[in-house]
This record gives sequence, structure tokens and C-alpha cells, in this order.
Amino acid sequence: MPTTVVGSYPKFEVAKEALRRYRKGDIGEEELDKAIMEATKLVVKDYLNAGIDIISDGEQRREDMAVFFAERLEGFRISGWVRVFDNIYFRKPVVIGEVKFKRPITVKDWKYALAFSKGRPVKGIITGPYTMADWSFNEYYKEREELVIDLARALHEEVKELERAGAKYIQVDEPALSTHRERQDMELAREALREVFKGINAKRIIHICYGKLERLFPDLLEFPVDQVDLEMKNSGYRLLPVLKEYSFDKELGLGVVDVHTLRVESVEEVVRGIKMALEVIGPEKIYVDPDCGLKLLPREIALSKLKVMVEAVRKVRKELGSE
Ligand SMILES: [Zn+2]
Repeated sequence: MPTTVVGSYPKFEVAKEALRRYRKGDIGEEELDKAIMEATKLVVKDYLNAGIDIISDGEQRREDMAVFFAERLEGFRISGWVRVFDNIYFRKPVVIGEVKFKRPITVKDWKYALAFSKGRPVKGIITGPYTMADWSFNEYYKEREELVIDLARALHEEVKELERAGAKYIQVDEPALSTHRERQDMELAREALREVFKGINAKRIIHICYGKLERLFPDLLEFPVDQVDLEMKNSGYRLLPVLKEYSFDKELGLGVVDVHTLRVESVEEVVRGIKMALEVIGPEKIYVDPDCGLKLLPREIALSKLKVMVEAVRKVRKELGSE
């Protein structure tokens, strides 16, 4: 029952400041890299301090999980600010040509994390093709299916780069799947993942969060992944009976701390969650992590939640006689 994280960590000031200055043209890529490396070092220090087994780079360079990739793939431009909700504005990727891979996108920061990880594995993490398409304006492809598959092929190149660099765990984030409308969306996402993970030997993980996740079943069981990482705590573990109903037999990334609340869970509360999951699935198939990325939490809260999570897992392991 290893502990892990979904991916993002609160941004350290050194990264925020460097990104601001980089956008304004005050500093170049080299100086930005130095700051990101510094921030990543701080992220990893927190992870090690908390006792996380499989870490991430904390995504200190990523300002938005779709725009970040769109800016680095061929075929996109980025829109101006679009109002999506009351006072919430986003920039959105716009597809204006054939989507293609250019050069490695996440490998540099993955390597920074590995350099500080004291031997712990670092997950490679990318935004998935379905979500990239869903969160973009498409002004080029006639069929959305073609866009998703081209995105998948481009992202496959990134996954290959991560594997070549040594990544043993590769996670594709597909939060948009939780709001999918039709059965065909699930089929499309599955086909796209097949492309993304074609010939990959690393552990293949998909992360999905929030919304009516029970609607993903049973189709999700046919996805070409080894592990499904799901938000569970926020929705009161109500997915567990669904997993039981469908005899879920993949590995489960079990979200046990809520990233949408500042309240830090108690150890006992997290232990209870893990035990509920153990009634449905064996400990050898469970990876314990937060519901989602931690980027919106204050760093102290994020760190406290991770510490509680690790303590809870140690407690359960002890009871199971494995620590
Ligand atoms: Zn998420």
C-alpha cells in the first residue's frame, strides 16, 4: 500500500516570481529553469519530510494543465481571457492546425525531482488527450475524434520520452472525463489512451476526479491502464460499492484527503477511509493519495494533509502486519 500524490503542489514563491518575470520577458529560459529547479527541490523536500513513497515534481512550471501542454505542442494558439463563470477567467487553447509533438514537455522538471528524490520514484504526469480536446476551442479538425487521436499520438511521444528518461509510473490526467456526456466519449477516451500508452512498459495510470464518477463504470474497466486513480474522500467514498459491484480488478489510486477543504483530516478519519476500501480491494492493489492535485491549498495545509495521510497508512500497515 504505497503512498503517492496526484501531481501538483502549491507553488513556491520562487517559481511564481520567475514565471511572472518570464512572461514579461524580463528573464530567459535559463533563469526560469533555475527557479523551477529550486522550487522543485522544495516540493521534493516536503514530500520526503511527509514520507511519500512515489512522488511527483509538483508541477511548479505549469500554470494551467491544458494551456501548459498546448503552448508546447504544434497546432495550438492560446486565446485571450475567456469568461467561464461569474468572475472566473481562463485562457483557452485554440486548435488551429494539425496537432504534433515538438519536443519534450515535462521531462526536464521530472528530472529535477528525481535528482532530489533520494531514490524514490517520480511519477511522470501529463494532461490526457480527451481533456486537452475538451478544454480547447477546435478551429481546425472537422471531427473531434480526429483531434483527440492526434493529441493522443503527440502525447504518446511525451510518454515515450518520460519512459526513456526512466519513469516507472506514468499518469494521464483526464478530469474532463467526469463530465462526459455520451457512451462514445468513453470509447473515444479509451482509444486515445491506447495510443498514448502503446508499447509502454511503465505502470499506466489514469487520474479522474469530481463529478458523477459512477457514470464511468463499467466502461472504465476496459481502459488500457494498470491503475485508476480516483477522488474518493470528497464524495464520501460512495464509489466503493460501485467498484465492488463491477468486481474492479485494477490497481486503485485511493483519494483519502479532500483538496477542496482547508480542514486537515484526522489520522483516524483517513484510517477509516482506507479500511472501507480494504473491504472492497486488497492492500496489494491500493495506492493511497490525496483526491487530486494540491496546488490550490496553502502549502502548510497541503503538507499537513500529506503527513496525516502517511501516518494513517503506517497505522493500517501495522495492523495488517506489514510494517
Ligand atoms: Zn484531479
